[in-house]
Amino acid sequence: MPILEVNQLQKSFGDIHAVQGISFSVEPGEVFTIIGPNGAGKTTTLEMIEGLMAPDTGEIHFGELNWKQHAIEIKKKIGVQPQSSAMFDLLTPKENLDLFASFYDKARSTAEILEIVNLTDHQNNQVKKLSGGQRQRLAIGLAMISDPEIIFLDEPTTGLDPQARRNIWEIITQLKSLNKTTILTTHYMEEAEKLSDRVCIVDQGRVVTLDSPSNLIEKLTKEREVRLSFQDGETAALDGELFSNQLESVIRTEREGTSLKLWTLNPEDTLLNLFKFTKEKDYLLEQVSIREMSLEDVFIAYTGKEWRD
Ligand code: ATP
Repeated sequence: MPILEVNQLQKSFGDIHAVQGISFSVEPGEVFTIIGPNGAGKTTTLEMIEGLMAPDTGEIHFGELNWKQHAIEIKKKIGVQPQSSAMFDLLTPKENLDLFASFYDKARSTAEILEIVNLTDHQNNQVKKLSGGQRQRLAIGLAMISDPEIIFLDEPTTGLDPQARRNIWEIITQLKSLNKTTILTTHYMEEAEKLSDRVCIVDQGRVVTLDSPSNLIEKLTKEREVRLSFQDGETAALDGELFSNQLESVIRTEREGTSLKLWTLNPEDTLLNLFKFTKEKDYLLEQVSIREMSLEDVFIAYTGKEWRD
């Protein structure tokens, strides 16, 4: 049974139709990620689910529970990563966690949370002295303090350096091993691809597609891009292009100076034939690579928009 079901959510602000009929369900223990271009309606959708804003129409169910009748029970089930501004800068991480814990009847131990979010060594430093990554980790800790089943993380890694981002990924992976359900939004495609069980792409207030990253990529295309460059210059690339065009598995080619790109349905067959060809001709290859299609290709295909980091 889904832990969360969202059915035909709609929300307008005057003439702006921010959310126009969003539906999805989330299974227990999943990392469910919502991605989309600027203004797609992600935050509005999350805020409705978190109970911060009522939808104009549509339904939100946490199992048997809904916001109208069971707000108190739902609040016990969910944890929302607070904005940085909600933390007390002059207090330490430990004090912030203790304070947030005091708001709930039931809370996890502060020491345990500090361990999970890797802040034990900084527990007694004032929050204002923490780095951006450490503050974000504390925000996740604060979302976890009431031991909720579902944790909402809205762009937890925005603006962080790659190492700090990876530290947050580790925490999200830990949440999964604790059987928590995580609902995530992110601006980083690599992050969505690495962490998510399923990704929901939203554009102009609607769900345009929803599936596991690997299914989304596979559904999009079975083509793979092979790139070659030749030490022997343009003649070799031109010859390589003529040869590739005769291969059945090759769909199209594109040559640029001494490099050749080709798209194939069967990279193994294509490469085997190409290596035979270069050997026969005594051409020297400089570089060979296969580019797998990524979630970014899926995003661009569905939204028609370039991804921005
Ligand atoms: P981003 O990736 O930029 O955070 P988003 O996908 O989270 O975007 P939303 O913040 O949900 O998008 O906004 C959806 C649309 O609704 C946008 O056009 C936005 O300007 C508009 N909007 C959101 N909140 C309000 C509000 N309180 N009043 C008026 N318009 C709003």
